[in-house]
Amino acid sequence: MDSVPPAKTLATVLDGAGAFLAKYGVDSPRATAEFLAARLLRCKRGELPARAATALPEPILEAMRRGMRRVAAGEPLQYVTGQWDFRTVTLKTDRRALVPRPETEELVSLALAHPALRAAAAPLVLDYGTGSGCIALAVAKELPAARVVAVDVSADALALARENAEALGLASRVAFVDTSERDLGDLLEPGSVDAIVSNPPYIPSAAVDRLDPKVLAHEPRLALDGGPDGMAVLRQVAEEASMLLASGGGLFLELDAESGQARPMAAYLRELGFDPVRAHRDLAGAERFLSATLSDGL
Ligand code: GLN
Repeated sequence: MDSVPPAKTLATVLDGAGAFLAKYGVDSPRATAEFLAARLLRCKRGELPARAATALPEPILEAMRRGMRRVAAGEPLQYVTGQWDFRTVTLKTDRRALVPRPETEELVSLALAHPALRAAAAPLVLDYGTGSGCIALAVAKELPAARVVAVDVSADALALARENAEALGLASRVAFVDTSERDLGDLLEPGSVDAIVSNPPYIPSAAVDRLDPKVLAHEPRLALDGGPDGMAVLRQVAEEASMLLASGGGLFLELDAESGQARPMAAYLRELGFDPVRAHRDLAGAERFLSATLSDGL
């Protein structure tokens, strides 16, 4: 009599999946396998250990194999799962916009701690280059009195960000603007904004060319390429911020630690009338953020 093949439990599937992804050079293979399994099982990653002995039905196993093949071929895990957690919000993620990154969660913390947002009763916050909407929607969720304007030059990204706002029930407090069609200066009064938070494209073009082709095959280049020195959009955000922010308002920028942008951008911000300007390191120790307060200019 044939022996019955052993049931594939979640534990054995995760072991096998982790080993498979490791063989293909995927970073954090075990965690990746867990995120994928959690998505397919419609649970949080932290709930997996309690289900370790559960036998997985064939359709789930098949979906797991398909997902693993996509990740092994270089597709970001966040596109494969189709959703990702960013601070307090769960976002739909697909190739219309850059995957929300953990560093950017720290950028939002910097903004939320600034006096300009702690003091204002109903602050107006601008997310410049919103992509998936991650910054705008986390701010809207965590500051219930805030009104948020989210801008992008990519119609695709804006469509995704809008879908996320609807799904999260935040659409009434977040306005979306396509700045490839409309000038922000026509829309917002000078001096009317309390905080501007931006994770713009900041990688120098030549470095984008050197990125792993697998990254470029999936994420939009428009969201990464910051021109010859990587700072073209950062400078543009800084210039607009110096017009749009109220005095005492805060500007929070994510930038490229590897190409040393913190110093030259800080100097430029001082030239534009920001004081103080501070550089901040991310959890990995890289100088990745600037916070700056617009002084009253007198
Ligand atoms: N931190 C991102 C990366 O290295 C870049 C994001 C950006 O350009 N805004 O992939």
